Amino acid sequence: MTKTESTPALNFIRNIVARDVKANKNNGLVATRFPPEPNGYLHIGHAKSICLNFGIAAENKGGNCNLRFDDTNPSKEDVEYVESIKEDVRWLGFDWDDRLFYASDYFEQLYQYAVQLIKAGKAYVCSLSADEIRENRGTLTKPGKNSPYRTRSIEENLALLERMRAGEFEDGSHVLRAKIDMASPNVLMRDPTLYRIRRVPHHRTGDKWCIYPMYDFAHCLSDSIEGITHSLCTLEFEINRQLYDWILYELSVDCHPQQIEFARLNLSYTVLSKRKLVELVEGGYISGWDDPRMPTISGLRRRGYTPESIRNFCERIGVARRDSIVDVALLEYSIREDLNKWAPRVMGVLRPLRVVIDNYPEDKVEELDALNNPEDPAMDTRKVPFSRIIYIEQDDFQEDPPKKFFRLAPGREVRLRYAYFIKCMEVVKDEKTDKVVELHCTYDPDTRGGSSPDGRKVKATLHWVSEAHAIKAEARLYDHLFLLENPSEEKDVDFKKSFNPNSLKVLSFLVEPSLEGAAPGNIYQFERLGYFCVDSVDSTDKSLVFNRTVTLRDTWARLQKSRKNEQKKR
Ligand code: ATP
Ligand code: MG
Repeated sequence: MTKTESTPALNFIRNIVARDVKANKNNGLVATRFPPEPNGYLHIGHAKSICLNFGIAAENKGGNCNLRFDDTNPSKEDVEYVESIKEDVRWLGFDWDDRLFYASDYFEQLYQYAVQLIKAGKAYVCSLSADEIRENRGTLTKPGKNSPYRTRSIEENLALLERMRAGEFEDGSHVLRAKIDMASPNVLMRDPTLYRIRRVPHHRTGDKWCIYPMYDFAHCLSDSIEGITHSLCTLEFEINRQLYDWILYELSVDCHPQQIEFARLNLSYTVLSKRKLVELVEGGYISGWDDPRMPTISGLRRRGYTPESIRNFCERIGVARRDSIVDVALLEYSIREDLNKWAPRVMGVLRPLRVVIDNYPEDKVEELDALNNPEDPAMDTRKVPFSRIIYIEQDDFQEDPPKKFFRLAPGREVRLRYAYFIKCMEVVKDEKTDKVVELHCTYDPDTRGGSSPDGRKVKATLHWVSEAHAIKAEARLYDHLFLLENPSEEKDVDFKKSFNPNSLKVLSFLVEPSLEGAAPGNIYQFERLGYFCVDSVDSTDKSLVFNRTVTLRDTWARLQKSRKNEQKKR
């Protein structure tokens, strides 16, 4: 795997693993796995789990991390998801080598385990309907009722399970249940279902099976079969642990993985649950799993996030047992930090205002030197054409500027990046709307390159493009997917109600000619506007499409600062 950028921070899981290695538990070896269900695309929450599992394996000598698909629910699964998950894990920089597994590879073995449980008197075929089973389960405060089929003989159970497998029964007519305790305070221990009949072809086993193991049965046994030492999962599985331990104990398996739970990642202004993300895809709220607004790995990639930035983010948020919501500004900080180091600088104008430089010769064009990265002067320079008519941002001009507005205004002089000082001499307005449509300026030929020989200072530097040379492109600007910080906060309210209708804004974009033919996936910093990534789906040589990855404004740093100030005040 790729080395993490910095020494990984210690956390309670790394401490447990280190202690086990030191005590020579499992012969001092560490085996982890990342176990997705192939029923959706991976999201940033999965990245946390991937970094943790692959990271811990890599940090320990002889450590291994498997990629295992827990593919026990064929009605929700698809090879499209399998392929996307593999691509995303690889893209994040992790390598499972030859350790790619599928729970479906163990179907025969799992079936044999089920037979073994029946023979031990620990499982039975129940012929109640799903509704009846639910009714008999009891509640948190009320114990459940034993199924009338609980006392079936071992022989009868073995014969019925075999006939279930042979396809002799209707879907839902029988299930295999563990025989545990219908009065257990843990509802999951009240004779949970282990197998069900489902005539759905499986994306890997086709029509071979018409009974499928339940997730809980397959998951803990798959871990055991693979010799996993530390089975890391999110907190909601804490209550499943008792069942996993029961299954592994009753089957006297050789390997009994140690389960350790950690808090799942929640991110503000978005949702991190495949079930909910699927609703956005199917409801047409967004263009697909890889819509750049999505918190999916494929969405973040298309938006311009790099694997490094996501790994650094996962390292920064740490691993704990306490549930919390991480501020999305921290994710934005991580990509900004990475791109700032290497993304080439270019210029483009999003909301153009035409500027005519009256004293600049009409047919003259100058190729001016521009730095590709002012923060890294070792990076090359490029040429940017300058001519008599240019565009600046509408926001960079105010006819009647308030006190702290230092950009262009009537009679005021500013610097054009890498070019000249210009001074605004005349404002042209639309007669009907009174909107400013054009400015007339003069330039000072002695200020070429952006400084004045007489030491004259200006307070603002504006980006610009030359009208005759600019390329017309499309810019897609993104905002939070949801208006609420925690869209799932209220249980009875549909989370989609707070979908942000302005989460995507499409603008036409005038960009400098050096961007001609920019390749999909390329990332640039448009000076003063933010980082943009050439869209990998819709951008073509003829019509470039830029996704804004993130703005330059560092909301995270500002937030930290204001928090510190607040603390000081207290
Ligand atoms: P979702 O709720 O999005 O459907 P899931 O847990 O059902 O998630 P799986 O495919 O089963 O999705 O997840 C694979 C692994 O990723 C599991 O070990 C799970 O615990 C972990 N994981 C899923 N979501 C998060 C999250 N938000 N933060 C950290 N780990 C997560
Ligand atoms: Mg799951």
